[in-house]
Amino acid sequence: LLANVGDVASGVSAAATAVEGVGLLRTEVLFLDRRSAPTLEEQAAAYAEVLRAFGGRKVVVRTLDAGADKPLAFVPHEAEENPALGVRGYRLVRTAPELLDTQLAALAEAARRTGAEPWVMAPMIATPAEAAQFRERARAAGLTTVGVMVEVPSAALQAAEVLAEVDFVSLGTNDLAQYTMATDRLRGSLDDLLDPWQPAVLALVARTAAAGAAAGRPVGVCGESAADPVMALVLAGLGVTSLSMAPSAVPAVRFALRRHTRAATEEIARAATSAPDAGRARAAATALVAPDVREVLGLDGA
Ligand code: PEP
Ligand code: MG
Repeated sequence: LLANVGDVASGVSAAATAVEGVGLLRTEVLFLDRRSAPTLEEQAAAYAEVLRAFGGRKVVVRTLDAGADKPLAFVPHEAEENPALGVRGYRLVRTAPELLDTQLAALAEAARRTGAEPWVMAPMIATPAEAAQFRERARAAGLTTVGVMVEVPSAALQAAEVLAEVDFVSLGTNDLAQYTMATDRLRGSLDDLLDPWQPAVLALVARTAAAGAAAGRPVGVCGESAADPVMALVLAGLGVTSLSMAPSAVPAVRFALRRHTRAATEEIARAATSAPDAGRARAAATALVAPDVREVLGLDGA
């Protein structure tokens, strides 16, 4: 169980909580208020501080996910009619490759300074070729454990081919739900569609987890869905190997996982993935949760 972290201060405070590490360091958050690109030295110092706080624990650093819902003033971009479908995330390598290369060099420098071995991953990967290209850039910078996010349906459908190129993947279920259901994540009024319990979203998660198991490579989840204890049981049952969430969500998820065997989580996952709609998927999974967990977490009234 890992922490999602957005800035150095919350990274340092997350290190004091009972987590196995960081599953998602959202580096763009470190630079939200910047008018000019942070230098290699500034970035190296910020990453080193988080790495140092976590000692030898795992830290997964995501390269800049700028654009769409995360605009950054210093990232050059043209006006786009559909920014969520435009040059965002890893795609910025097409227009501003120096941003990525500086960031990778800064992370490698932070690793040298701290003796830590951070994992690095790219957001918004759509093809195995992009995954391979990112791996080459990251390795050239001196980073050893290289992965990508699976948050575009094409990457989930081709999870086996993507996993052939990188060491691990991490499912971003926020964007995966947005793109699978063609539903803007910034629009509250379509919440029923933007639901990680939607059968199509669960099917893509299941496909990705199965590809990871077949390849013997880690498949994490770092979207908000991992913070839901019932969904966490489903994800574990599907074979997801790590869950990353706001540190405050970890105790309830850990409690739920501890109270179930692997076989029980697999049964919960089967119930969820064979349901016809999101509401019934959640209900079917919840019905199989151990009674004491249901009571402590207040799931029966939910
Ligand atoms: C996601 O899309 O699920 C994710 C973890 O990334 P972000 O929410 O930062 O886009
Ligand atoms: Mg995302």
